[in-house]
Parts: sequence; C-alpha cells; structure tokens
Amino acid sequence: MAKIIVVLYDDPVDGYPKSYARDGIPEIKSYPNGQTAPTPQKIDFKPGELLGCVSGALGLKKWAADNGHTLVVTSDKDRANSTLDRELPDAEVVISQPFWPAYMTAERIAKAKKLKLIITAGIGSDHTDIEAANKHGVTVAEVTFSNSISVAEHVVMMILGLVRNYIPSHDWVTKGGWNIADCVERAYDLEGMHVGIIGGGRIGTAVMRRLKPFDVKLHYTDRYRLPADVEKELGATFHQDRESLLKVCDVVSLNCPLHPETENMINAQMISKMKRGAYLVNTARAKLVDRDAIVKALESGQLAGYAGDVWYPQPAPKDHPWRTMPHEGMTPHTSGSTLSAQARYSAGTREILECFYSGRPIREEYLIAKGGHLAGAGAHSYSVR
Ligand code: NAD
Repeated sequence: MAKIIVVLYDDPVDGYPKSYARDGIPEIKSYPNGQTAPTPQKIDFKPGELLGCVSGALGLKKWAADNGHTLVVTSDKDRANSTLDRELPDAEVVISQPFWPAYMTAERIAKAKKLKLIITAGIGSDHTDIEAANKHGVTVAEVTFSNSISVAEHVVMMILGLVRNYIPSHDWVTKGGWNIADCVERAYDLEGMHVGIIGGGRIGTAVMRRLKPFDVKLHYTDRYRLPADVEKELGATFHQDRESLLKVCDVVSLNCPLHPETENMINAQMISKMKRGAYLVNTARAKLVDRDAIVKALESGQLAGYAGDVWYPQPAPKDHPWRTMPHEGMTPHTSGSTLSAQARYSAGTREILECFYSGRPIREEYLIAKGGHLAGAGAHSYSVR
C-alpha cells in the first residue's frame, strides 16, 4: 500500500461550504475534438462541490481508504521542512494543481526515492522538472482538456474586460460614483480588432472559436499549423513566428505551455515590436513573460492593459508588482479551477490513479513524460533542454 501526497490550496477562510450557489453543473461527456471526459470506474463526490482545496481532497479520501493507501493532503509546500518535504522520502505519488503547485524540483525528485508518478490535477506540468523526472524514470501525467474550455472562457472575459475597461468602471460604481467620462476614456469595442493567439492548441483554438462571432480578425502561431478546414472556419491567419503576429495584433493571448522554447518569450524587445496600446492576456504561465518589462510597458503606455491569472511563484508574494501595476486585470490563478473544472480534473486524477494501481495504461493523451522521455501530450507540446 502506498503513500500518496496531495498538495492543494487552502480551504475558504470561512470554512468549507455548507451549500452552493447552484444545485449542479452541466454534464460534459466529451470535448470538441471527440476526446471523452474522464472515465473513472466511480467517483465519491458530487460534481459541483469544492474539491480543489484541502478539505475537498479532489474527492479521493474514500478511494484511498478503500484501497489501503495513505493519503496525505496538505497546502504546506514551500517553507523549509514543509509537510511536502517531510512526507516525500517514502511517497509513491505526488498530486498537485497548477493553481497551488508542488514545485517538484530536481532536488525534491532526487530525495523521493520511491516516487513513481507525478500527477497534475489540471493542465500544465511545468512545476515539475521534467528532465529530472525523466532521469529518475518518474511518469508525469496531467488531465488533458479537463479545464481547457474553462480557461478559454476566462480569456474571452479578460479580453473584453480590458478592451471595454470593465474593472475600473465597476470600481466607480462601488465607490458611489457616476463618472461616465472617467470610465469610457479608456473603453473601446473589440469589433474589428486583430486578435492573436500564441499556441493554437486546445485552449487557443477554443478562444478563437469563441471570439469569431465578435467580428474580429484572428491570427495565430504554433509549432503546428491547424488543419486547413479549421483555419478556414475561423478565418484565422497563420504566422510562422510570434514576432510577425505581435506586430499586427491589437490583442494577444498566450496559450502555449511553459518549456525551454517559450520561457521569457515576451520580453522588453518583443513588447517594443507590438502596436502601441496593445492588450496582453496571459492565462498560460507567468514565466512566458518578463515580469518587470510588463510593468514598464503598462506605465509607459506601450501596453494598454495586461490581464492574466498566472504568477510566479504561486502563491504570489504580497508585494508582487502585478498586484499594483496600472491597467491590470489579474486574478489569482482561478481560470482553470471553476467548480465545473474541478469535477472533471478530480475525476481524471482518479482515472489516472485507478489505471496506475491496476496496471492498466494511463491514457496516452494524459501523458507528459514516461520511461525517461516526453510522451503523449508532452511530446506534442513540450520540449526539454
Ligand atoms: P495544448 O497542448 O492543447 O496546446 C498547447 C499548444 O501550444 C500546442 O498546440 C503546442 O503545439 C503549442 N506550442 C508549444 N510550444 C510552442 C511554441 N514554442 N510556440 C508556439 N506554440 C507552441 O494545451 P492547452 O490545453 O491548450 O493548454 C495550454 C497551456 O495553458 C498549458 O500548458 C498551461 O500552461 C496553460 N493552462 C492554464 C490553465 C489555467 O488555469 N490558467 C489551465 C489549463 C492550461
């Protein structure tokens, strides 16, 4: 019987909810590319419950007890001698969500002599040192597609929020004002703007599909070109490189994973090539951009707005400059952790565990690395040094 560590965000400050705003969530059986939603043998939670915090435990407590596994659930991951560090030496599986990542560094992986599997309950496994996992033969898996649409909806919300100056206008209401001129002096319509997507994968394509009815001009760049019929359906222009896309777009959304090819790709030099007053939305990973270059560009007006919900490190320190920079529309990494998304990635985590412990293969599309190499979705979307 194994030890499984689950690192999750803290419970709400006023305790685990006793009731919810809605009585349930729509059942999603498959995703736009035909991939089925998670298919565990059973779930021990009610979809729509809060599962991503410590008390929610991704709905895994009963499964672990029934199967004789020790489930250590904690939010304590970063301080010296954290619960994660103390429990690691004899753990077989480590599970965490990108919202509250267990940073699985080479040092931690080296110390975890029994570690066989690292699961990202969600999407984006950059908090794991994938090369170190490969070196030690540790499998890395994530719940591909589980929250891609959740994020795509958030991207559309953020784009509209920035372009239409939603948050500052809302602030005038709560301050008791009726300052229309103050609100609209930075408000525009999205219609007719050029919107560019860097990373036309599951999220990027879903963002383009959702934005098309706004009569924008769509652009994208990716390692792989979309099928011709999809490009045609979207009316999207493909760019061979990000610089060519950045030069022509009014709004840019980052939707590729963080890996050696993409780290720091939006730096001061790249921002200087963008149109003055462009908007940048980043729900992918904070390290895709140069933190301080973003602040400077907002202060100078080179960027008209920056919204995102990914930070480094997470949780972000109280004095992180993105909390107070001008024209920001930040959220604390919530886009992929709606109650709807939690139900899917919790079920997907259970499916991966059931496969792993019964000797059945983990779905290929869930794999990031296996047997010392990138695999599955990882081989498609990641690189190693
Ligand atoms: P995906 O694998 O379907 O899409 C990623 C795309 O990026 C792929 O098409 C890939 O070819 C492309 N890509 C990889 N390297 C590139 C490069 N150098 N240049 C251009 N394109 C490149 O994954 P997805 O479901 O669309 O998710 C994308 C990323 O979004 C995740 O890896 C994660 O970092 C982030 N994400 C964030 C949240 C959140 O809650 N904020 C949730 C899910 C995913």
